[in-house]
Amino acid sequence: MTHQNKSRPEGQPIVRMEKLNKHFGDLHVLNDIDLEVTPGEVVVIIGASGSGKSTLIRCINGLEEFQKGFLEVDGNQLEPHGKASRALRQIRTEVGMVFQQFNLFPHLSVQDNVTLAPTKVRHASPDDAHKTALKLLERVGIADQAEKFPSQLSGGQQQRVALSRALAMEPKLMLFDEPTSALDPEMIGEVLDAMRELARDGMTMIIVTHEMGFAREVADRVIYIHKGEIVEQGTPEQVFDNPQHERTRSFLARVL
Ligand code: ADP
Ligand code: MG
Repeated sequence: MTHQNKSRPEGQPIVRMEKLNKHFGDLHVLNDIDLEVTPGEVVVIIGASGSGKSTLIRCINGLEEFQKGFLEVDGNQLEPHGKASRALRQIRTEVGMVFQQFNLFPHLSVQDNVTLAPTKVRHASPDDAHKTALKLLERVGIADQAEKFPSQLSGGQQQRVALSRALAMEPKLMLFDEPTSALDPEMIGEVLDAMRELARDGMTMIIVTHEMGFAREVADRVIYIHKGEIVEQGTPEQVFDNPQHERTRSFLARVL
């Protein structure tokens, strides 16, 4: 039942990022970031608060624009300066994201949260979308909550709805930005379990998290970023057990 049974990632990279640079005004937030992610790979990004983790993954689905560099997602090239493009629209349909705050639509039932995008964007029939939604909710253990509204659910349940909603679009890549950071401790496990299962099923995932035990378990690769630069990356064993850089060592000493 563990991650080790997963077949090794292979094939052309789904994310190709070369010398990506991002500024917020005078602040140089991402500095020459190179990143390739292969289909099936699970990449975990770690680093201190403010190091640029969120900005990095938000660039991948065009939620943040960048100023310089190359970025391609599943063959769709995003231009610097965030020009609206066909590529951007395509990427948005192929990349799912789960945020720290669940960002569910409060006025829609759980089920309608999950069926909205497939019916509006994919033009799925209401019947098919409904069946898919129930299957996805079932998979994360909350099919019995389908008729409720987000405010009636616990944080852990809401985050599992957010995950189901993203998966309903059949994404090729899933981005997670600290998906358990807003949860009470007793609810973290149920969300990590759902993510673990997704990883085991071969989903390509880029995950920002402070859950180091989880990172060690699911990651094919761990990337440590500091002040907008990739300082070190490798397998969980390499990064956690034998970090090469002093900065990585001092970060890990603080969080482990
Ligand atoms: P992390 O996710 O690692 O905590 P972020 O990517 O959120 O880091 O932020 C990186 C840096 O960019 C921080 O210094 C943050 O204050 C700054 N920043 C993030 N978003 C904005 C924004 N919209 N406008 C200006 N500065 C921002
Ligand atoms: Mg962040």
